[in-house]
Amino acid sequence: MSPFRMSLIVGICAGLLVFHVSLTSRHLTIIHIDKYRVLPRGICMGILSLSIIKGQIMPPIRTDKPTSRSRPNEIARSSSRHEPPRTPHEFLYMIKEYHRADPVKLSQDETAPRTCKNCGNTDIKTTSVHNTLGNQVDERTPLLFWHHQASQLSDLTTNGLKASREHLTDSQLKAIDVLNGMIEDHSEQAVLQRLGHQDARSVKGWEMERLIILLTTIFFQTTPWDRMEVRFDWSDQPSDPGSMGDCTCAGPDQPYAVVRLSASEFRPFQNFRHLSGRAMSRLSTLLHELVHAYVGYYACPCCSSYREDLVQLGGHGRVWQRVARSVERFANDTLGLPIDLCRFEAIVNNWDDMLFWPMEDEAEGWELVC
Ligand SMILES: [Zn+2]
Ligand SMILES: [Zn+2]
Repeated sequence: MSPFRMSLIVGICAGLLVFHVSLTSRHLTIIHIDKYRVLPRGICMGILSLSIIKGQIMPPIRTDKPTSRSRPNEIARSSSRHEPPRTPHEFLYMIKEYHRADPVKLSQDETAPRTCKNCGNTDIKTTSVHNTLGNQVDERTPLLFWHHQASQLSDLTTNGLKASREHLTDSQLKAIDVLNGMIEDHSEQAVLQRLGHQDARSVKGWEMERLIILLTTIFFQTTPWDRMEVRFDWSDQPSDPGSMGDCTCAGPDQPYAVVRLSASEFRPFQNFRHLSGRAMSRLSTLLHELVHAYVGYYACPCCSSYREDLVQLGGHGRVWQRVARSVERFANDTLGLPIDLCRFEAIVNNWDDMLFWPMEDEAEGWELVC
């Protein structure tokens, strides 16, 4: 039997097995995933399992942790022969030198795209509606778990966050009003005031989860129909001493993402209006982790560009970088909220896990600062 036919049969069997288990699992009612979405997920899992066995895909399970995912045949392309850059400028210089040394090497982005068997590289649709201000805005159709090409998610976010405030959706406008109210509330019991306490655990998990819904509505246009669930937990011990938080992305066995922030650690940060530097640091870390949760939830792991888009650099590949840059810019320019998602630090901290050098104009577009 040919390897292709063998792979196809095993993939379908694995898919049907996951489908069957999902149908009989109590998760089905708990996570509100209907059975028509479970079958594609099962088939995707079958394909994914085969890809993992064949060494084609290494799925990210948890971000912001030291990893050792490099495989022997990738060492030549990896960053392991170079010391990490000290500045974004040095990073760009290294990229230029790398491509000058061998201009034949191309990013996966420039190789012929392959149609994905799981998502089919189908476009995310948007419809034009009028918001309450009378302006025409684009509202997208609900997203599906593990079902969109990662670069489409970054295009969607980047384009959506380019809109001026008057051209946001009603849900976004409402969420921004609520967030502004929280920022202006400087009473002792205010959530964002307590977020600035030395020990942040006075903010309950459910309060953080409400804040998360506000933030994902504003930055990713999520609605209840997208069905993305993010749970929150405080952690005494960050998974990595240099990390203020981490995110365990959703997967077939865990249909929700879990974001954890350190309850005691924070980065030095400027105060902002009534908010302390500690609160600003934690808000920034929360948004950093929410970018992981968002792309990890909807990006299709079966797409050929998945490793370059998301997996490499400890989950901070180019799609994470593009989305994070848009979030940071929108927060600063449109909301007036000076957050910092530590995007350059994420590259340096995961330097040994850089499997593909980005093209120069791509990395310039990330507008890295340190
Ligand atoms: Zn991260
Ligand atoms: Zn795909």
